[in-house]
Amino acid sequence: MEMQKRTPRGQRLVLVPTPYQGHINPMLQLGTFLHSKGFSITIVHTHFNSPSPSNHPEFTFIPIQDGLTVPLVSSGNIIAILLALNANCKASFEQCLTTQVMKQEPGKKITCIIYDEFMYFSEAAANYLNIPSIILRTTSAANFHARSTVVELHSKGHIPFPDSMSSEPVPQLHPLRFKDLPISPWDTLENFLKLVVKSHDVGRSSAIICNTIDCLDQSSLARIQKHCQVPIFCIGPLHKITTAASSSLLEEDTSCIEWLDKQSHKSVIYVSLGSIASIGEKELAEMAWGLANSKQPFLWVIRPGSITGSDWIELLPQEFREAIGERGFIVKWAPQREVLAHGAVGGFWTHCGWNSTLESISEGVPMICKPCFSDQKVHARYVSKVWRLGLELEDEFERGKIERAVRKLMVNSDGEEIRARAKDMKERIQVSMSKGGSNYKRKSELVEFIMALQA
Ligand code: UDP
Repeated sequence: MEMQKRTPRGQRLVLVPTPYQGHINPMLQLGTFLHSKGFSITIVHTHFNSPSPSNHPEFTFIPIQDGLTVPLVSSGNIIAILLALNANCKASFEQCLTTQVMKQEPGKKITCIIYDEFMYFSEAAANYLNIPSIILRTTSAANFHARSTVVELHSKGHIPFPDSMSSEPVPQLHPLRFKDLPISPWDTLENFLKLVVKSHDVGRSSAIICNTIDCLDQSSLARIQKHCQVPIFCIGPLHKITTAASSSLLEEDTSCIEWLDKQSHKSVIYVSLGSIASIGEKELAEMAWGLANSKQPFLWVIRPGSITGSDWIELLPQEFREAIGERGFIVKWAPQREVLAHGAVGGFWTHCGWNSTLESISEGVPMICKPCFSDQKVHARYVSKVWRLGLELEDEFERGKIERAVRKLMVNSDGEEIRARAKDMKERIQVSMSKGGSNYKRKSELVEFIMALQA
């Protein structure tokens, strides 16, 4: 006879995502998973970049005052915005939680607050109300370790270093060079370090959830675990553990799926630089001609406003549009998970945001890495030099280099090994996620752990 399984019926979890696409997606995917296990889910979010409740009728959404000013938001200084959110939201979150606690029925209590590491004001509010908390880290262990090393190098007086573009290796951080360190381009080093130190502080939180997987990130995870006093649950890739609805802030253009349906197997290179990065007119032209000259079909996401000095694709040369005809398809925003899982996609030109990297790896799609800033540089290095699931385009955008990289990744025999390794990693991830695999076990352990937090 089967044992009666304990379920978390009535237990309520409050989730606090950082208001950027690359953080909202994994938090809402985690929410979908925990909801499928019987928890009821409340998302407390800022007005800035607020997620759309209509995509997730199963959750309760509560907005809080974020106090962000229009000039600060339009500055695009993400470090300053995150620091301001932490300063501004603590009181409004505490008030929101107090109201929720006062309203709660017995047996339907808030069991735990799960907050993104950059929304660390949540931990103080949880402590104030005596509610346990868990941190969600949405980046790789490799990047977390690199960020910790930056803090350490700074405390020893090695940072700022004379040449931040140096190709010298960072001691004990193979294969990263000084120029790959994930230092933010937006603000002062002091403000960047302040944010990193605060977000790395576990405080009184009970555990950490990481959106990564041990068969990929094992060595960095082992280093982190050594210094960590609380359990770490590695249950990524979160987008694969449930079929969560889209949490896109921009509207997905699904017409690209019909276009993909008409392309041959593994022939298309998918191109996207994520939700934040932007490029200039010269880079746009080099990218366009590199793609056109590669002769491979391509699906290219160009977000409105992501080309400096233009609204959308007005700066694309007319000759380019004529040269590509039906061979290229450009959209403002794609259903990326569906695109990467499509049989016609054989390669991904990515900026190496962690979600994009994980989404590509878990579909066995090899990558061309062109990082723009921060963690993207770490991931590009790991993808190309450690995991060897792609190749990195270094230095300036140049059409000849782009053309050769696309052909190597997609068709040439010298890209065969990368393509085979990408396929193999997909299979290893599938094994880890299926019954009996390590990822599968960690998910069950996490559910048990949260249920046990109930006071
Ligand atoms: N994304 C998407 N459609 C697009 C481009 C991106 O749905 O056209 C999603 C992508 O699947 C990923 C997220 O947006 O989940 C971007 O996060 P990532 O960490 O890759 O990069 P960021 O945007 O934070 O730089």
